[in-house]
Amino acid sequence: MDLGYAGRVAVVTGGTSGIGLETARILIEEGARVAVCGRDEARLEAARARLAEVRGEDALLAARCDVLDKAAVAAFAEAVAVWGGGVLDLLVNNAGQGRVSTFASTSDDDWRAELDLKFFSQILPIRALRPLLDRAEAPAIVGVNSLLAYQPEPHMVCTSAARAGVQSLLKSLAAELAPRIRVNSIVLGLVDSGQWQRRFEARADRAVDRETWYGDLARSKGIPLVRLGRPEEPARAVVFLGSPAASYITGASLEVSGGVSRFI
Ligand code: NDP
Repeated sequence: MDLGYAGRVAVVTGGTSGIGLETARILIEEGARVAVCGRDEARLEAARARLAEVRGEDALLAARCDVLDKAAVAAFAEAVAVWGGGVLDLLVNNAGQGRVSTFASTSDDDWRAELDLKFFSQILPIRALRPLLDRAEAPAIVGVNSLLAYQPEPHMVCTSAARAGVQSLLKSLAAELAPRIRVNSIVLGLVDSGQWQRRFEARADRAVDRETWYGDLARSKGIPLVRLGRPEEPARAVVFLGSPAASYITGASLEVSGGVSRFI
């Protein structure tokens, strides 16, 4: 199946690590030109080097941008406009991270920060890049979200609530932006990326090795496929939903979780 990415332009926020980096890599492999952003300069440099290996520097723009900083997002959109020829075919809103906290341990400021991150990492890039999307032939937005939106966990209380709100936002946008722009999401279970690597590195028992720690994690979470996902697995789902091959799909959500959901 031809996904139809040849000559298209895509943006992947948080495209410097994990799922975002793999999404950018596959999009470039498929023939797209891809702009990625992140905050950390070292991560950005490493991603630039890795992605340039796929089809050279011309297929790539790597820029520093915090997606919660309105001025920085505007500057990034301007850079994308110049580099991409004034058109954007796909926006992947992927930047972010989860917050582990119960209701008792989440302060009011934590709540505000989490709601800000989850909502505005969607809102600001969509607002800033919408004029470029409007100029594309068959534009699409894909939001990277979590299964916590539908299956909340008490130990991630504010992340779960914010995730549910983001699903609502994306569903509304699918209607408001139709028929011009398709809007879809993926909802993730546990994917082995920067976030989990950091939690592994901060593990209480330093004697536990990586394989054991990840194996125990998969079993404790009851994942039917008995492992965490690899970043390229959700990335492939993003690439499909964002492609012209998914032309009749909008307002949809694709679960990529190894089967861990317990609802129908
Ligand atoms: P990583 O930590 O590997 O990657 C996160 C990326 O987002 C990095 O490139 C990071 O770069 C960037 N980022 C974070 N905050 C910002 C910001 N404010 N502005 C710009 N870039 C930012 O994590 P994953 O690949 O796992 O995560 C991708 C998405 O999937 C995230 O939204 C995450 O919450 C979500 N998710 C992941 C799950 C998992 O199990 N891995 C489960 C459910 C959801 P930098 O820090 O340099 O800015």
